This record gives sequence, structure tokens and C-alpha cells, in this order.
Amino acid sequence: MVGGGEGAYIGGIHRFAARLDNHYDLVAGAFDVDAERGHSFAAKNFIDRDRSYGDYLGMVTGERTRDDRIDVVAICTPNHTHFPIAKAFLEAGFDVICEKPMTTTVEDAIALHDLGQSTGRFLGVTYTYSGYPMVHEARAMVARGDLGKVRVVQVEYPLEWMATGIELQGNQQAAWRTDPKKNGRGGSIGDIGTHAYHLAGFVTGLKAEAVAADLATFVEGRALDDNAHVMIRYEGGARGLLWSSQVAIGQSNGLRLRVFGENGSLAWHQEQPNELVFTRLFGAPETIKRGRDDLTDGARVRTRTPPGHPEGYIEAFTNLYSGFAAVIRAKESGAPAGSFGEGIPSSYDGLKGVAFVDAVVDSHEKHNGGWLPLQFA
Ligand code: NAD
Repeated sequence: MVGGGEGAYIGGIHRFAARLDNHYDLVAGAFDVDAERGHSFAAKNFIDRDRSYGDYLGMVTGERTRDDRIDVVAICTPNHTHFPIAKAFLEAGFDVICEKPMTTTVEDAIALHDLGQSTGRFLGVTYTYSGYPMVHEARAMVARGDLGKVRVVQVEYPLEWMATGIELQGNQQAAWRTDPKKNGRGGSIGDIGTHAYHLAGFVTGLKAEAVAADLATFVEGRALDDNAHVMIRYEGGARGLLWSSQVAIGQSNGLRLRVFGENGSLAWHQEQPNELVFTRLFGAPETIKRGRDDLTDGARVRTRTPPGHPEGYIEAFTNLYSGFAAVIRAKESGAPAGSFGEGIPSSYDGLKGVAFVDAVVDSHEKHNGGWLPLQFA
């Protein structure tokens, strides 16, 4: 692991997710931008001293020559560091699991995607919400035609936590997220809009063709958007509306997706992830619950507990980790990756997300909210 040290947010979730299905051991790391803090964190996590590295370049050098070298590295650092770290590990022949957004520029995202292809290494991107079983069920239902042709896609990711200038009050996570050099061009749209964008595309299977965006910065002095409204035109005529907000008081992690087709609609909410609401034309809403035997394979393989025993965020993240493991093993063995590898987010999804953010910011900043085509869909 690179990053994810003491006081970091997502590294701990990665560690839970890696352990739950027993596909990974955490054996080496450069856990912190501060080497000493990293070593002390490594010691607390029972990492051998000679595999706790002061920085990621030391880790690449140290690991590449070992007989028991790592198979894959997880990159859990702020956005601007993803590119150099992923590049160094890919070039050294390691598979990579990278946090989103994959890079801070489209140029870097293209380069990283190409590098994954040319080295033959796997580059996965942690679009967390595509790990939920009921999201897989929704995807299967749309693909099966239960909704008919999709007409409208509504997706939103509202959060409250940056409704005040917490970046100036010592909040580590908010500090780099509001610094364009570390975060990239898109504030809320880069941080959480990318999740919403991926989720909408994942469930509907639709390619987005163009965006028109209105961004806002409500907290005084903040350099990046903390609220974004984006209209999306999908292939085949479907219309999308995406809202990301870091200033939505009362919202914790209110990621919500609604898909409306010619014959029915689906609704899923991250804070009630075990349920999916399906409504047929002129019918009453039906709540489909996780854990039932009649769900599709994609939902069933990603389920661990019986219906009524709730699963959540950590299991969804585990499903990604187990999917990455399936894809990496399949690559090594030549055998199919099976259901767990199905739809697993990889570098092209990472590239699409970065290109989406770029087009959104360009639409707002350079075209007064006008329509711009998407380069990668
Ligand atoms: P954080 O600030 O909490 O943690 C960052 C960690 O990286 C810290 O331990 C820091 O010391 C370390 N670090 C920074 N530069 C480093 C370097 N060069 N070498 C080694 N370690 C370094 O950040 P966070 O909130 O955990 O976010 C990290 C990444 O995860 C971001 O890209 C963010 O967008 C992403 N994220 C994804 C999800 C998700 O659902 N997939 C959720 C939260 C954050």
C-alpha cells in the first residue's frame, strides 16, 4: 500500500476490503508522506521493518528485486500523486489498484491507461459503489430490458461535510481537496461527481456523449467548485442529470440513482444499499431486497449474509477487491475471471472519469455552461 497511513481516510477501508475474502496479505508499504510516521504506522500494522519504505520509489526499488515481491499495490494517496506512483509501479511490472480520480489531467490518464495496456499489467480503479450487490442487480435488470429503453438518468451525490471552510481549520482531507494542484480541476465534481458518473454509466450501460455544466463555489475563498449541476446526453437519446455537492446540509453520503425507461423505473440509494425499488408502468413500487435466491448471479456472488442481516460499504469495497483479485488471477492463468471479475472498474473507466471532469469544468469555465462532446465514453 502507498498512503493510507495514520489519520488517513480511505486506506483503512482498503485494508478491511482486502482482508475480508482472504485474497490479499498486506506485506509492504510506504504509508505516509512523512517517512517516520509511515514507519511507525507500519510497525503498528505488523509490517516487517525492511518492507516499510520511506517513499514509493524506495518501495518500487526494494520490492522489484525480492523473490517474494508484492503482486499488487494499492494507491491511497491524494489525487496528484496517483500518476507518478502508478506509473512507477506499472513500469516495474506490478499490478495496480488506484484510487479515483485516476489522475488530475486527461493527458496523464491517457498515458496511464496506455501504460497499463503496453506493460500488460492490470490497473484497477476503486469506483466503490459498483461493488454493491443491488447495483449489480440494477445493471442486470436494465440489460435484461426490464425497464425498456432508458429515457432519463438522475444521479446525485450530496454531502454536507464541506459546507463551511473546514480546509482552513486543519481538516487534512479537505485541505488537499480544495487545492487545485493536489486535487485537480474539479472540486465536488472530481471528488464525488466521478463516482456518480461511473455509477450511472455502470447501471445503464449507456455511453455519455456530451455534457453541459453549471458549477458553483459557495464557501468564500474556496478555489474549486463545491456544487455542480451537469446535464448529460447519452447515446440513443437518453438524458441525464447529475448533481454533486459538498455543501448539502443534512446529507451524509446521499448517493442516489434513478433510472426511468419506457416500461419501468429503478431507484437505489447508497444509504439503504440492500434495497432496490422497481416500478412497472402504472404499477406500484416493488422493493427488491438483497440476499434473495431469485436475484441475478452478479448480485448473489457479491452477497455474504442472509437477507435481513445488513451488508454495506465495506462489503461493497470488498467486492471490488475480490473482483480485482479475480481479474489479476485470470490474467495470470488465462482462465476466465468469472462473475466477480464482471464489470470491474479498470483504467479505461478511470480515464472516462477524468475526461468527464475536464469537459464539465471546460463547459462551465470556457463555454458559459454550453454543450461539449466527451472525448472518452
Ligand atoms: P487522506 O488525506 O485521508 O490520506 C492520504 C494519505 O496519503 C495520508 O496517509 C498521507 O500521508 C499519504 N500520502 C500523501 N502523499 C504521499 C506520498 N507521496 N507517498 C506516500 N503516502 C502519501 O486522503 P483520503 O481521503 O484517504 O483520499 C485518498 C484518495 O482516495 C484520494 O484520491 C481520494 O479521492 C480517494 N478516495 C476514494 C474514496 C472511494 O470511495 N473510493 C473515498 C475517499 C477517498
